[in-house]
Amino acid sequence: MKILIQSPLAVLLPDPEQECSGILIERGRIEKILDFSDDLPDDIDQIIDASDCVVTPGLINTHHHYYQTLTRALPVALNKELFPWLKSLYPVWAGLDADMITAATQMAAAELLLSGCTTSSDHHYIFPSSVTDALDVQVAALANTGIRSVLTRGSMSLGEDQGGLPPRNTVQDEDTILADSERVITTYHDAGDSAFLNIALAPCSPFSVSESLMKESAKLARRYRVRLHTHLAETHDETAFCLRVTGYRPLDYLEHVDWLANDVWLAHGIHFNDNEVTRLGAAGVGITHCPSSNMILGSGQCPTLELESAGCPVGLGVDGSASNDGSNMIQEVRQALLLQRLRYGASKMTHIDALRMATSGSAKCIGRPTLGEIRPGFEADLALFKLDEPRFSGAGDPLAALLLCGASQAEHVMVGGKWSVYDKQLTTMDIDELTVRHRACARMLTQT
Ligand SMILES: [Zn+2]
Repeated sequence: MKILIQSPLAVLLPDPEQECSGILIERGRIEKILDFSDDLPDDIDQIIDASDCVVTPGLINTHHHYYQTLTRALPVALNKELFPWLKSLYPVWAGLDADMITAATQMAAAELLLSGCTTSSDHHYIFPSSVTDALDVQVAALANTGIRSVLTRGSMSLGEDQGGLPPRNTVQDEDTILADSERVITTYHDAGDSAFLNIALAPCSPFSVSESLMKESAKLARRYRVRLHTHLAETHDETAFCLRVTGYRPLDYLEHVDWLANDVWLAHGIHFNDNEVTRLGAAGVGITHCPSSNMILGSGQCPTLELESAGCPVGLGVDGSASNDGSNMIQEVRQALLLQRLRYGASKMTHIDALRMATSGSAKCIGRPTLGEIRPGFEADLALFKLDEPRFSGAGDPLAALLLCGASQAEHVMVGGKWSVYDKQLTTMDIDELTVRHRACARMLTQT
């Protein structure tokens, strides 16, 4: 299948000066960026007229908790900071079953695809006794959705009775976690350049995981060359917890458990001091900025520019849908632009910087060197946004308009050379059927 994206209105390319009269896709990869002197190739199977579309690399979401789409705007969790927010939600999440995880996973994938996202990482860390095979359930749920996935096998091992935050019925013992982690890696992880499914290991946070599980998870991940992910430096409460329980600040604790390395990416990364930022950069640790979640929970602002200057890949994440509470990736790029401008001023954070975070920055966080850029040889993961809505009327710079005018839905989305969204419709899922099923699951979970 040879596809030509013809005459795009604007394209986000690695070199902003490069001319582009078309993008040629072949066998699931970007074959060539055409310039105006190139002849149109023959034998093209499909030509897409993109003359009113902005084309970006497919957006990459590097932090989410799909199951939380079932507990959006839940009254019991409203208007709370992270620790009390979590404590009000853990007992609800303990009631998850396989049908709920299936519906939540598919709904998150649907929202993400519709908003221009082509690759997404999920961090699932709740394994109630009724659904200890949650990762298998997610793999099955995502099989035909047309989104590229990094499923992280999350874990919690430090219950309330052991000084942690989560209640006992939401944690598992370490042997069970490690055995399932190894099984999931060996069953599902694809290390290839074009992989649609990666597995990573993701003990949840310092206040829900024991020190030994952090260390053993790192050993296991490195044995199989998969990546490591966790939450870190999200709130002042977390820093206080780490100092009280481990005797370390969060970053010192990370180093103590052998996680200060370039196969690790962290969600949030807000409360680091200058010395810690330097050490993170020297180690090449990736950071996922989650602006909406950080604003909703009032957690703080990630120092993205200092982290990038120090050497950290910085990507973007919508975070779980109980603290966002949507999974709209292009809106999240706008949130990053706005929040980071508040921190650094308007001239230091451009719309290109925010888009770079959501594309090539995110690709580096998840260790995928052929994602996140429109470049020959890269995977054909693209988002096309049509600027035909009233909100764009009269806009000057099309790429800037995408964020400043508040784009919320992609026109077409291609993943690995195939259309997952076409004419603003999912090609892979029946959104009406899914919405009915998802709502029923949410009702069941939150009313029991
Ligand atoms: Zn999170």
